[in-house]
Amino acid sequence: MVKTLPLMLNHQNYVKMQTTDYIEKLVSNHIRAQKAYHVPESEGFIKLDAMENPYVLAMELEHKWLEYLKSSDINRYPDPQGNIVKKALQKIWNTNQDMVLGNGSDELIQLLLMLIRAPERVVLSLHPSFVMYKIIAENLGMEYIGHTLDENFQINQDSIIQAIAIHQPAIIFIAYPNNPTGTLFSEQTIKTIIEKAPGLVIIDEAYYPFANQQSFLPFIENYPNLLVMRTVSKMGLAGIRLGALMGDKAWLEEVDKLRMPYNINTLTQKTMAFVAEYKHVFEQQAEIICQEREKMLTALNNIKGIIAYPSHANFILFKVADANAIFAQLKAQKILIKNLHNVLPNHLRVTIGTPDENVKFLTFFNTVYGQ
Ligand SMILES: *Cc1c(COP(=O)(O)O)cnc(C)c1O
Repeated sequence: MVKTLPLMLNHQNYVKMQTTDYIEKLVSNHIRAQKAYHVPESEGFIKLDAMENPYVLAMELEHKWLEYLKSSDINRYPDPQGNIVKKALQKIWNTNQDMVLGNGSDELIQLLLMLIRAPERVVLSLHPSFVMYKIIAENLGMEYIGHTLDENFQINQDSIIQAIAIHQPAIIFIAYPNNPTGTLFSEQTIKTIIEKAPGLVIIDEAYYPFANQQSFLPFIENYPNLLVMRTVSKMGLAGIRLGALMGDKAWLEEVDKLRMPYNINTLTQKTMAFVAEYKHVFEQQAEIICQEREKMLTALNNIKGIIAYPSHANFILFKVADANAIFAQLKAQKILIKNLHNVLPNHLRVTIGTPDENVKFLTFFNTVYGQ
């Protein structure tokens, strides 16, 4: 049966139609109501807003890398399976898990939601947590529920089990450690969630490099509804856009049907094969970042009026008296962090930078607040 699109076929009115008329007719309300994801201008700033690793490749490593890239056949399509990438990631993560690769884990979240999407299906995550779960779920027309964390940013087990029973979510996303709180949730609580969930549970381990080996990867065999997602973004390769989804082969095969065949480009594939040989460099950087994180936590908590929360990631969430004011003052001094005031009143999130950047960030408080 042919469904007509009256606006397009109304020939008499055709000339009078504006672009906006077509958009109104063709693009659904929930997408028109949205704003595109905003990334702030950061040229010339000390950039402590996006959980990037602050270290560039060391000089001699950069030369070797560029040499290695020279042999790329960029006239050819990349390997559709990205086999050298999978081998590299298995080496870096010390696992033999099978995986599906994504153009960042953002793409894997999108593929998972496309896979299980159906009318009335509910997506459940925590609040506050990573914004892309909500954005992508709503883009795809699904209902999203963000279950509020307790006052220590932990999961209240009884209340989430109740929420699961009521909403029967088709999929649950848990960031482990959580963004923007830095919390590592109780392993036992997450296991209970996996057992009570009627659908899939995705453990998003974007901050694995900073989480002292805490992971749900070893439990994949125990739970047929558990998948684990990781990314190379936070470990120092945000620019190459690469994430991986691990779990039972049967699940991976279903996700793979929705994946675009060439989603991992040749330069990303070559780069990953190259850096796997230098995994110790990234591990050392992560170690420095964790040490800096602990120094920063102590320093922030020593400033009157600030409460900083312990973190298992490469950032720290902290509470101030007036987040908007501090965010603006830092910005005026060319230091960019994340203002979470709209999500968590008077909370800010700072990514751990180089020791030098961290000192500059802390000096701001010393000068402005005379500590
Ligand atoms: C940053 C982040 C991601 C995004 O990872 P990409 O691989 O860069 O798309 C996913 N999950 C969480 C919790 C994050 O904080």
